[in-house]
Amino acid sequence: MQTTNPHHDHQHAPGASSQASAGPEKLPGIRHVIAVGSGKGGVGKSTVSVNLAFALQQIGGRIGLVDADILGPSIPGMLGLPIGQPPTTTPDGKIVPVDRHNLKVMSMGMLTGDDAPAVLRGPMVGKYLHMFIRGVQWGHLDYLILDLPPGTGDTQLTLAQSYPLSGAIIVTTPQDVSLKIARRGLRMFETVHVPILGIIENMSTFTCPHCGKGTDIFRRGGGERMSRQLEVPFLGAIPLDADVVTCGDEGRPIVVDKPKSVAAQAYAAIAAALAEQLHAAPATVLKPFVLTWDSNEGAPAWM
Ligand code: ADP
Repeated sequence: MQTTNPHHDHQHAPGASSQASAGPEKLPGIRHVIAVGSGKGGVGKSTVSVNLAFALQQIGGRIGLVDADILGPSIPGMLGLPIGQPPTTTPDGKIVPVDRHNLKVMSMGMLTGDDAPAVLRGPMVGKYLHMFIRGVQWGHLDYLILDLPPGTGDTQLTLAQSYPLSGAIIVTTPQDVSLKIARRGLRMFETVHVPILGIIENMSTFTCPHCGKGTDIFRRGGGERMSRQLEVPFLGAIPLDADVVTCGDEGRPIVVDKPKSVAAQAYAAIAAALAEQLHAAPATVLKPFVLTWDSNEGAPAWM
């Protein structure tokens, strides 16, 4: 069995310990754990995580959000959370998550403050990650959303090995450079046996607020094409919209601030599709990912 001690070191060579073979640990009271990832940074993954969380809430879900980007947290800014104010703890030592419009949130930014960098080595990042997931008093949740750092590194592997993820959502922008890297992220999740819930194309067609004409600044349709090629669901496209930036910068996500906007409606449709998909396929116990160095079992293709 895996330890429930958040301070336990999970960052040693994957598979080097018998703990990994015990498989992902269930999180009591949480129906679905969803990872939101991207290949590249700056494609709007955190913006999507936050707005999707509220969109799922608006259709009746109880939602928690973990900013799993321990080294570069951006959720507190997007939600206007108090920063540098450590959260309180329960008598049994669990962290009480911050509540923002009934969304329960945990982020490193709440501990470090706005400008203070978290300077941590890999093992410490892993410890914080476990503390932010297992060490938090979430209560009953329908969805716990994990906003991952970009790429295919330590955090992604640690989470895939340690928690029964219902699946991963990949956020990409429509242009080729972003799609190629997103595909890599998607393949990584497949390698570690995490189902792909679908692709969200962000920063899609921009509609000029003056003349109403649409412009495909980052090209168009790439996310949908990629989902067809890789045979994973296409969850939807969010338009490129200056209001998304303003709302994000001011700590008022567009889904909450402008629920009638095209972007908010797109999120609503995505949330509905996602809820339906997860309802149809209830939380599965996944085959645990084990990388055994001796036999290369579970190793990516290049090994
Ligand atoms: P990531 O988490 O992928 O690094 P962020 O969510 O931090 O990306 O977003 C990067 C920037 O892009 C932010 O300034 C955000 O407001 C902006 N952004 C995200 N989605 C959109 C969108 N649909 N339209 C316009 N700007 C967006």
